[in-house]
Amino acid sequence: LTSRELTQAYLDQIEQHDARVGAFLRVNAEAALKQADTIDRRRGAGEQIGVLGGLPVAVKDLLCQTGEPTTCASRMLEDFRPPYDSTVVAKLKAADAVLLGRTNMDEFAMGGSTENSAFQPTRNPWDLERSPGGSSGGAAACVAAGMAPLSIGTDTGGSIRQPSAFCGVVGMKPTYGRVSRYGLVAFASSLDQAGPISGTVADTALLLQAIAGHDPRDSTSLNAPTPDYTADVDKPLEGLRLGVVKEHFGEGLDPEVDSAVRAAIAAYEAQGAKIVELSLPHSRFAVATYYVIAPCEASSNLARYDGAHYGRRTEERAMLASLQAERKAAQEAGDADALDNIDTALVRMYRQSRSEAIGPEVKRRIMLGAYALSAGYYDAYYLKALKVRRLIRQDFDQAFEKVDMIVGPTTAGPANKLGEFADDPLGMYLLDLYTVSANLAGLPAMSLPCGATKSGMPIGLQLHAPPLEESRLLRAARMFE
Ligand code: GLN
Repeated sequence: LTSRELTQAYLDQIEQHDARVGAFLRVNAEAALKQADTIDRRRGAGEQIGVLGGLPVAVKDLLCQTGEPTTCASRMLEDFRPPYDSTVVAKLKAADAVLLGRTNMDEFAMGGSTENSAFQPTRNPWDLERSPGGSSGGAAACVAAGMAPLSIGTDTGGSIRQPSAFCGVVGMKPTYGRVSRYGLVAFASSLDQAGPISGTVADTALLLQAIAGHDPRDSTSLNAPTPDYTADVDKPLEGLRLGVVKEHFGEGLDPEVDSAVRAAIAAYEAQGAKIVELSLPHSRFAVATYYVIAPCEASSNLARYDGAHYGRRTEERAMLASLQAERKAAQEAGDADALDNIDTALVRMYRQSRSEAIGPEVKRRIMLGAYALSAGYYDAYYLKALKVRRLIRQDFDQAFEKVDMIVGPTTAGPANKLGEFADDPLGMYLLDLYTVSANLAGLPAMSLPCGATKSGMPIGLQLHAPPLEESRLLRAARMFE
């Protein structure tokens, strides 16, 4: 099979199904086929080909790619074409991936259903009335619908694992710092991490291999050697000690999810794993902690989108250039009143630009964050959240003295109906119950399919491992597959 044939097969699949699913914001058919041809030609000439060897990969629309619109599913970045590649995209190119196109997401990755996209909703391929999850809903749905074998998502509070669970595919959030954030449009910088989504554990290993590694251009990138995941994945684990967390089986857990996850745990036990009951006492504060820290970082990261420094500028108000010229003249003339008026006009322009081009959920996050960071509330909210975050990490550190890995549900229930949370942002936030802890603690975690509900919706099993133990996750996941 040539890379062209493979790429064409996925393009045909997209052609046939994506009008209904809506996983892609843009498909780059021509460029992809050209790339495939080049790889085929090089292979034919006996050249060494990268690890992805001409496999198509879909990329979430928040990883910069030279000349390719990178919108974050926001009107604010509708016309943004980065002049550079993110490290993830550069590594995909170097590994000889074929870049198929860009997948839909919640605006700026804020959300859990992909309905916050400014452009289109994405539907769950298993039931078009349901959400694929989010924010990497397009990335998970395209793999589930056979429209791409591999895709890249990002996970700030569960956005790789939750849609993977809802769509019945495999998704991994690597250790914070394992994959470079250079060129990843920031949501909450201390939590954001890109990672692989695919149909199998072996493919997850392959894609992780391609994108992992130290990057001096990201100051939080970990300077640790990258293991050979593709070789590690097939080595079974012996004497595995698996932690089962009592807080993961509390109120709100769907009974069908509960029984599928318990069956998975029994399957591990049958393979010789030792099951250890655990408690992560601070996990009940995880959602509250996350929804302080993530919006705080978001309000700071998104301050740049004012229509002047970055992003779409309002058309209704005076343009920046003329305001700036007037400002300069007023300054030279020492006219304080005129200066004041112009500054007010500038602020009006920023405000108007942001009002027009930023969606309601993103506005909500910016306001929550700005409030929690404001002088009178900083200690009570942001600082407190940082302290609880530390306690959540300590819970995991203590747990990992007793077990090698933690196993539980990825989400409390199967995929929700589209529109279910339209007027209920808090209900939406609760979808993140089991996923945000890994981000707060910086741990690697993975979701893999572990059955389905009676109505046929996929159920996800979640594994957590200590920092940098992605190989362990892959090996354990492979045992279950
Ligand atoms: N659902 C979470 C949120 O809305 C997680 C998003 C993410 O991981 N990008 O913030």
